[in-house]
Amino acid sequence: MDNPFTQSILDTLPAHIALVDENGKIVVVNKAWKAFAVANGNPKGATVGVGANYLDAARLANGPYSEEGAAAHAGVKAVLDGSLPQFTLEYPCHSLTERRWFRLTVSPLEKTPRMAVVSHLDITPRIRLEKRLEESAERFYELVDHLHQVFWIYDPKTGGFPFISPAYETIWGRSCQSLYENPQGWTEVIHPEDRARVIRLFAQAMQAGHYDAEYRIVRPDGAYRWIWARGYPVRDASGVLTRQVGLAEDITERKTAEEENAKMAAIIEYADDAIVSMTLDGIVISWNLGAERLYGYTAEEIIGHSILMLNPPDKSDEYAKLMARVRKGERVGAIETLRLRKDGTPVPVSLTASPIEIRAGKVTVASKISHDITRIKHLEEQFRQAQKMEAVGTLAAGVAHDFNNLLTIINGYSELIIDELPNEDPNRAYLMGIHEAGERAGILTRQLLAFSRKQMLESKVLNFNAIVTDTEKMLRRLIGEDIVLTTILDPAVRPVIGDPGQIQQVLMNLSVNARDAMPQGGQLTIETHHVTLDESYHRTHPEIKPGQYAMIAVSDTGTGMDAATQARIFEPFFTTKGVGKGTGLGMAVVHGVVRQSGGMIEVYSELEKGTVFKLYFPAVEAPLSAAAPSRGSRKMPAGTETILLVEDEDGVRALARKILHSCGYHLLEARDGKEAVTLAEGYEKRIHLLLTDVVMPLLGGRQLAEQLEITRPGIRVLFLSGYTDDAVVRHGILQAEVAFLQKPFSPIALAQKVRDVLDGPAAQLGR
Ligand code: ADP
Ligand code: MG
Repeated sequence: MDNPFTQSILDTLPAHIALVDENGKIVVVNKAWKAFAVANGNPKGATVGVGANYLDAARLANGPYSEEGAAAHAGVKAVLDGSLPQFTLEYPCHSLTERRWFRLTVSPLEKTPRMAVVSHLDITPRIRLEKRLEESAERFYELVDHLHQVFWIYDPKTGGFPFISPAYETIWGRSCQSLYENPQGWTEVIHPEDRARVIRLFAQAMQAGHYDAEYRIVRPDGAYRWIWARGYPVRDASGVLTRQVGLAEDITERKTAEEENAKMAAIIEYADDAIVSMTLDGIVISWNLGAERLYGYTAEEIIGHSILMLNPPDKSDEYAKLMARVRKGERVGAIETLRLRKDGTPVPVSLTASPIEIRAGKVTVASKISHDITRIKHLEEQFRQAQKMEAVGTLAAGVAHDFNNLLTIINGYSELIIDELPNEDPNRAYLMGIHEAGERAGILTRQLLAFSRKQMLESKVLNFNAIVTDTEKMLRRLIGEDIVLTTILDPAVRPVIGDPGQIQQVLMNLSVNARDAMPQGGQLTIETHHVTLDESYHRTHPEIKPGQYAMIAVSDTGTGMDAATQARIFEPFFTTKGVGKGTGLGMAVVHGVVRQSGGMIEVYSELEKGTVFKLYFPAVEAPLSAAAPSRGSRKMPAGTETILLVEDEDGVRALARKILHSCGYHLLEARDGKEAVTLAEGYEKRIHLLLTDVVMPLLGGRQLAEQLEITRPGIRVLFLSGYTDDAVVRHGILQAEVAFLQKPFSPIALAQKVRDVLDGPAAQLGR
């Protein structure tokens, strides 16, 4: 061992090497050994040199009897006594300045005498590296374990995933293990609609490197999740792709919110109202389709510009006031105002402005919703118009009522005188003139009442042919000379139940419309027909019962109507004629009358050809009401019964008295219901007939009749009236079995009606 050659070899080795004899005594050390002891700053170390006992030194290393020291001691001993073939131990060694690691290797050198080579190799760099790796791996695991995203590594060579982080299990609802075992499985759980696209993107990424995909997966419980996956290539020095690493995260919430937002945006975009957002200075930020429709500007044209473009010049300060309130955080609702469209036309709108974005306590954006209220304004206008008509109607009805009383007197007396004058009396012609004018005035008041719909309906059995004939003269006057009126009357036409005045009104309204449709003249035809509507007709018009109908057809050769007009003609106030020309009430009245009698209307119209209205009324079997005997037949039906005459209008009462006296009746007279009741109470004999006005102060005709029916059962009742208002009509005065005489009445009509009622059954009002 003293061989200098051996010594110099030992000295070149970096490990600290010593040779110990069987007792552990150090016989040889190399250069590194010597340097180590000194470098360690261990003053004792320096003494652990040749001649020292290694066993003792080892035991003392790292403090007396430290674990490592003890182990080293035992290890060296075991090698020296042959019980261990070799002993290694890695241990840390604390110096004053640093911590280092060594590997102690003890190997037997020779069998006899027992000697061993003890070497300490400094393994600090390796240990440090290992520690670092361990730490970074730990950090990595800590990171991926807590990451909500899935971190994945893909190996394109094997097509497998060497690593997938545990978040996979939470998001996908499947174990990582299942993916390690079946790497292809990841595409199988992609939503079928997304799968092909994702596979394509992933394959492209293997060429291009970068991978980015949003897709849905289906969890084992069937739920969908939205995934956003990104992958980045890892290449070796020669640029070959060796790995794809990436992240995948669950973006379901974001996607749902996005979808929600998109839905909201679409709702706003397609809303009917103009929905706009803008800065408080009025610069438009967003502009929906509704705004484009309402104002005519496209979003491109107005975004970035001032909303004041829409304000009419006289409303420019309105905007500042509005914004001042919004700035304070106030929501300003439903302000009705005017705005201008792109083409300059004004549009009435209802505006609502709200603060929508508050930054650092300040409103920075305002939303403004405008609703087009043209239609509402229009309806308001129509409503006002209807109210006006209603008022005019009430007025007309009132006037007509008074007129009817006056006309009753004028016509009644003139008729009475005519009847008494000899035929050759020269005044007779004058009186005839007065009477005729009175009759015409009567027709006029009827029209006024029909218009105001306050007419007392007088339902009776009537014949259309007679009505057409009666009305023809007046119609000719109405339509003028350029229009030829032809009437074609079917003798087989059956009678119907209705109010003759109303049917005349219907004919008038239809003829006037026909006239208006033929400003250059033309042909107006009025026909009557007997019609049988059978079951097959009922099937297509369920509201019409099969049976016999009397039909009136009114045709013209005028302008005709297009489908849109036809669809609306029965609407009250619908008119195509200018302001002041049409009222839009004519066809509404026609419709009302026909429907009321259980009939129906058919319209055929062709533009530039003409129009036909066919009106069907249910026919009756009953014989016609005895028509009032024509003038000239002087015989007034007479009688001797007692009549209680109640009428508040003195002139009318006097006329009635005169007529009924001349017929031979006994009369009791009262000016109103109250007086009549008192009178009846004090009258002991029988009263056969109550002849009363309907509308009277204090006690009305109907109530009077009801009272008398109780005290005098069997009394006959005949009502007189110029009109009745809707309420009275609705409350049943209008029953067919109630006898009623419309003012103005002629003497003969009164006498006839009185006789009829006296001879007929008792009224039954009190039901
Ligand atoms: P008005 O005559 O006051 O306009 P109507 O209710 O009588 O009101 O009629 C409503 C509308 O129906 C008319 O404005 C017209 O457009 C249409 N109309 C009615 N009858 C005829 C017709 N015979 N020919 C063409 N149009 C008609
Ligand atoms: Mg009309």
